[in-house]
Amino acid sequence: VGSSPMQAVLVAPGVKDKKVLAFRRDALKEKDAVAALMRTIAAGGVRSAFYVFDLARVVDLYRGWRRALPGVRACYAVKCNPEPALLGALAALGAGFDCASRREIEAVLALGVQPGSIVYANPCKPEAHLEYAAEVGVNLTTYDSEEEVIKVKRCHPGCELILRIKGPDGGEARVDLGTKYGAHEDEVLPLLRAAQREGLNVAGVSFHVGSGASNTDVYRGAIEAARGVFDAAAGLGMPPMRVLDIGGGFMAGPAFDEAAAVINAALERYFGELPCVEVIGEPGRYFAETAFTMAARVIGKRTRGEVREYWIDDGLYGTLSCIPMDHYVPQPRPLAVPRAGEKTYTSTVFGPTCDSLDTVVTGYQLPEMSVGDWLVFDDMGAYTTASGSNFNGFSTSDIKTYLAYSS
Ligand code: PLP
Repeated sequence: VGSSPMQAVLVAPGVKDKKVLAFRRDALKEKDAVAALMRTIAAGGVRSAFYVFDLARVVDLYRGWRRALPGVRACYAVKCNPEPALLGALAALGAGFDCASRREIEAVLALGVQPGSIVYANPCKPEAHLEYAAEVGVNLTTYDSEEEVIKVKRCHPGCELILRIKGPDGGEARVDLGTKYGAHEDEVLPLLRAAQREGLNVAGVSFHVGSGASNTDVYRGAIEAARGVFDAAAGLGMPPMRVLDIGGGFMAGPAFDEAAAVINAALERYFGELPCVEVIGEPGRYFAETAFTMAARVIGKRTRGEVREYWIDDGLYGTLSCIPMDHYVPQPRPLAVPRAGEKTYTSTVFGPTCDSLDTVVTGYQLPEMSVGDWLVFDDMGAYTTASGSNFNGFSTSDIKTYLAYSS
């Protein structure tokens, strides 16, 4: 990692030809190095959309997390991007995992991760998935309803609980989770009593401020509210809580440092006198978003006067599902090296399906492109490959990922 050559290997099930492409990262800026790698991959005869996963970026982000939040264990939220190379990298670095389903638990255990490093952070779980968690020893899960307590007691009686409280308002998040999950203030005591009644231990409290929260101040109020729940449980004579789960919501960049400062101050203020409490987080976007870059191929073109219309082979039903689902703002650029003074045209870019909703950008300036050219989309790691579909037979899982690493 660092100044040694950057290489790319195709990571896809069943691929035998593990051709390694090499680039000197030190000679180029990070984004340019990835683009240069993509040009080599495209020139090698690839004819459909592909991803490059920058492993060194994840290593840097993990170091950044450890530096800024030394007292918080990162448990990567697999739902954000279950790419095996990303999971493997994070496992090797020592991260824990937030899993939402049986399949996610299976993927993480397959890497050799201990079940104790997994939090089953889905407040409402199918019975069969809970029974599987019991079988493999994943013994910590979130809840926010009395029915869930009864279900956990029935399907996984050895499981400990984490009470998820509603995230605070005002986080200006890209995706608000509070309308669906989290106990309201007046529900906290009944939910603690329900666990007490069923003989299940409530090990701690969690919240999620919303994904991509731009107002990082909200962590303060959420941590204060969590402390209130610790005290309420003690007031009911329950065993002392020992886990505080501060959820996700983090974005890489300056916003992360701001969030870390708020969190560290709030932890000191509200949990300073409880040094035995283990603090964990469930970051998804922070690790995944900026580590993946996507190239889509131009597969069609129409010229209408001065306007250009293009079709590409990924769209809103594929990995660009992040546009409607995650409020991703696409700013594609041609993979080809720009030429000085090149004329641009007002352009529309469509996805490949027959639905007119499948439109990636309109009124967007691009140079003249041809069928077979490529468009690059940056920061495509969060809620992209994870939430695409097979609509019209364009299968998201056919899109291959190249792993870029320095050795
Ligand atoms: N934890 C839970 C329970 C979630 O639902 C999510 C996202 O939906 C995450 C963690 C990850 O959030 P983020 O990607 O904002 O870090």
